[in-house]
Amino acid sequence: MQHFGSMSEQETEHRKRRIADAVIIAVIVAGGLSIGGVLPAWFGRAVWLLLAAGCWLWLALRAWHRLTMRQRGWLVFWSYAAAGCAAAWVLHTAPEQATLWVRFDRICSAILLAGLITAIAYNIIYKNKPNMRKKIVAGNWKMNTLPAEGVELAKGVVAGRGEVCSCVNFIVCPPFTHLSMVAEALKGSDIALGAQNCAAEAKGAYTGEVAASMLAALGCKYVILGHSERRQYYGETSATLNKKMEQAYANNLTPIYCVGENLEEREAGKHFDVVKAQIEEVVYNLTEEQFKNLVIAYEPVWAIGTGKTATAEQAQEIHAYIRKVLAEKFGAAAAECPILYGGSCKPANAAEIFAKEDVDGGLIGGAALKAADFLAIGKGFAK
Ligand code: PEP
Repeated sequence: MQHFGSMSEQETEHRKRRIADAVIIAVIVAGGLSIGGVLPAWFGRAVWLLLAAGCWLWLALRAWHRLTMRQRGWLVFWSYAAAGCAAAWVLHTAPEQATLWVRFDRICSAILLAGLITAIAYNIIYKNKPNMRKKIVAGNWKMNTLPAEGVELAKGVVAGRGEVCSCVNFIVCPPFTHLSMVAEALKGSDIALGAQNCAAEAKGAYTGEVAASMLAALGCKYVILGHSERRQYYGETSATLNKKMEQAYANNLTPIYCVGENLEEREAGKHFDVVKAQIEEVVYNLTEEQFKNLVIAYEPVWAIGTGKTATAEQAQEIHAYIRKVLAEKFGAAAAECPILYGGSCKPANAAEIFAKEDVDGGLIGGAALKAADFLAIGKGFAK
């Protein structure tokens, strides 16, 4: 039985957040008490002026983070807006003869109250939802569909997207030949476009290759790199993948970097070593900045297209291990890296796998070829 450290990394993060929440609440209460006359007014004003601005900025950053992760950050965002409105209203209704200090105290009271309510609501809602990572469902179409069929498929995903929680980030990765048409079909939706591969070089005499810059120019935001089929059939090595990763980042593409062991390796109990090496040889070469913009997909080769799926427990075990390996190099940032599961993921098993703490979504092959199935996999994330 392996013991992994990633949970304690996350626990430390959560503890820090809780301490910060406690500080914010303490500041709000102190300000409220002094404004209410329990503590001297100058004390309250000093506390407010020195600390509240910083705390509110910090809370706003968290709200922004939630917003970008699409995890109901709007709740906090609108609480801020409400506090602002309440303050404006209190100011507006202050008696004509009110001094500046009276107005100041009134604004503080309104903002403090709204802040207190926001902080309490925030903590109740997120108490059992500490995972702030992006939820991703990415479809790898591989070498399937003709262009017109691909467009139909993309349109089907766009049409049904509204039925799935907006917290899920959908990505479709069609063949190169379909990219511009699929980009057109996705226009106006929040579904992102990705490619299945890119060249290791920037440009030049590389017949048959497609540069990362070309993908970016067609609207791609993601690129799958290191898929086991490319490692196996096209001899992709870590050396090539390092170059491809560089190209992806140079063109603002987020790599979806695939790792995973084959059946023999799993049966020999070498799966941890295999994924560790795949990470160390490529991901460890990224800068901290690049790492912040990375998605990992764990895809056991024995589960790809075979109908065999890793159990939710197997997925969680190795995802947690991957996060630990990432944390050894990138520290706390590893807690923010989305790790997707891939390998015969379908509507019937997605919810169970996605419910695991370290599973942040799926890289979907076969089931991504039917819009209804792809969307149903997205529904594996509870609203
Ligand atoms: C894949 O190859 O990325 C994959 C997960 O395929 P499937 O879902 O068909 O197993």
